[in-house]
Amino acid sequence: MNIVGLPALVGTYDNYIWVIHNSENAWIVDPGESQQVLDYLNQHNLQLQAILITHQHFDHIDGIADLHNAYPNAQVFGPAKSTHPSIQIKCKENDVITLADELQLKVLETPGHTLDHIAFYNDSVLFCGDTLFTAGCGRILGGTAQQFSDSILKLRQLPDELKFFSAHEYTLSNLGFAAIAEPENAALKQRIATTEIHYPSNHTGAQSTLGEEKATNPFLRFDTPHLKKSLLERGAEDSAESLFATLRAWKDEYDRNH
Ligand SMILES: [Zn+2]
Repeated sequence: MNIVGLPALVGTYDNYIWVIHNSENAWIVDPGESQQVLDYLNQHNLQLQAILITHQHFDHIDGIADLHNAYPNAQVFGPAKSTHPSIQIKCKENDVITLADELQLKVLETPGHTLDHIAFYNDSVLFCGDTLFTAGCGRILGGTAQQFSDSILKLRQLPDELKFFSAHEYTLSNLGFAAIAEPENAALKQRIATTEIHYPSNHTGAQSTLGEEKATNPFLRFDTPHLKKSLLERGAEDSAESLFATLRAWKDEYDRNH
C-alpha cells in the first residue's frame, strides 16, 4: 500500500487528505475538498473504495458529496457519535474495519478536539485526524480537557513504529512552540534542525512516527519531569487533565501571538 497526502484548504486550514492506495483501489481519509482527490484518482487510474472520517468538522467532510457522486459505491465510515448524514457505517471503539484483504484498521475513540473524534490504526499506521498533529495537537472545540488527555494517553500506548498521519500541516509552527515548552529536549532540537516541509506539494509517506512524536511532541509529554515542572509553575495541578489543559492554554496563547 502507498499513502499520499493531498493538500487541501491550502493557506487557510492547511489540511492533508490522505490517500491509501494499491495499483487499482484507493481509500481516503478526511476529504475536506474533492477536486484534488478526483484528479489524483483519475491520473492514477484508481477506483475509490471507501472514505474514512475522523470527525465531522467541515475541513474533513466537505468533499464527501462530490466524491460519493463520482464513486457511488464508495462506503463512508465515520464516528458512531457523529450526526453527519453522509456517514453510512458508524465506527466505535475497538471496531475492526476490513477495507481490503491487506488493509484492516481498528477504531479508537479519541474525544477532546470534538466529542465525536475517532482515530484509525493497525500494526503499521495511525490516522489521528485533529487529535494529534506533528509536534502538536488539536484545539479543544467540543470535548473536555479530561477527555483530550485521556485520548492522548491512549494513543501514547500504541507502538512507536506506527507511521503517523494527522490531518493538518502545522509542523513548523508547532515546533516553534515545542522549543519554548521544552528547551532542554535534545531529540526536539535534532528534529527542528532536520525538518524540511514542502507543503503544499503532495506528501508521500508518513509525516513522522509515533515514536518521534512521543520523543518530541509536548502534548505527548506533559507529564515528563521538565515539562511538568514548567506546567506546575504555570498553575497546573498534578493531574493529567490539568497538565494537559495548562499546556493547551499555553499553546493557545502562543498561537494568538504568532
Ligand atoms: Zn477538526
